[in-house]
Amino acid sequence: MLQQTQVKTVIPYFGKFTKKFKTLNSLSKCSEKEILKLWEGLGYYRRARNLLSTSKLLVDKYNSKLPKVVKEIKTLPGVGSYTANALLGLVHNRPTVAVDGNVKRVFGRILNKTDSKINFDQLIEINKDRLFHTKRNSDFVEALMEFGALVCRAKDPKCAVCNLKRYCKYFRSSKKIKTVNNKTVENKNYDIFCYINKKKQIALTKKNNLGFLKNFNLPEIKETKNNINKGNWKLLKKYKKSISNKKLNINLYYKFSNKIPPSFTWCSIDKNKEFIPTFTKKIFIQVSTLF
Ligand code: SF4
Repeated sequence: MLQQTQVKTVIPYFGKFTKKFKTLNSLSKCSEKEILKLWEGLGYYRRARNLLSTSKLLVDKYNSKLPKVVKEIKTLPGVGSYTANALLGLVHNRPTVAVDGNVKRVFGRILNKTDSKINFDQLIEINKDRLFHTKRNSDFVEALMEFGALVCRAKDPKCAVCNLKRYCKYFRSSKKIKTVNNKTVENKNYDIFCYINKKKQIALTKKNNLGFLKNFNLPEIKETKNNINKGNWKLLKKYKKSISNKKLNINLYYKFSNKIPPSFTWCSIDKNKEFIPTFTKKIFIQVSTLF
């Protein structure tokens, strides 16, 4: 839940989630519909799907236990190198470092070198006796992440109160490295076409190939092509939306119609038992201004 999402946003979801699923076994038995409904509003829904698939795999193949080898943990859906190492440390108390952007920044500053000039695997291997000299490996994994987030912050690191400053080349150097933001933002332009009817319903389909919301309930979405004639679709609004590293420029069109293409179904704008992603709910808000 915490991937790309702040702690304060996650807390109520985590509470609801752990109340509902007290064991891995109970999670593995729930339906995708159920898990998505609980996740509704938290975004990045692929995480919920991956979590469900992972729970099923752990129950069926690993006797409800997390494997103890990084290579095997990485075969779980949605788990990459960072998460696999974090799990290995947090769950099995193994000596490991989960190298995310925060941890890279901390190591980079201590050496006063930019990320691209550091081989992190090699650095950890060479320094393993110094890094893992306690038995509290799970605390170490957690502490390193927190240290990067709270002390050695991207902007304005708290060097004055940092107990690593004695060893830190960044602190001592007059030529400090620049902390670079490696996130490249991709700009995308989309046209969204909403069929609506007088009953305050909107037609949605799961047949879409939109990477970040693939197979979720959406109106028709196409990448904008300016030379395409929009026919009798009326422009409702132009707005911007950020998803992950994408900046979306959206043109929202609508048309009142009782006829919809075969893969679409009508969905009420006001009441929904079905899971509706936040992206689509924002469209509902815009469309409801027409009634
Ligand atoms: S002294 Fe400053 S730059 Fe160095 S590790 Fe501490 S907070 Fe980061």
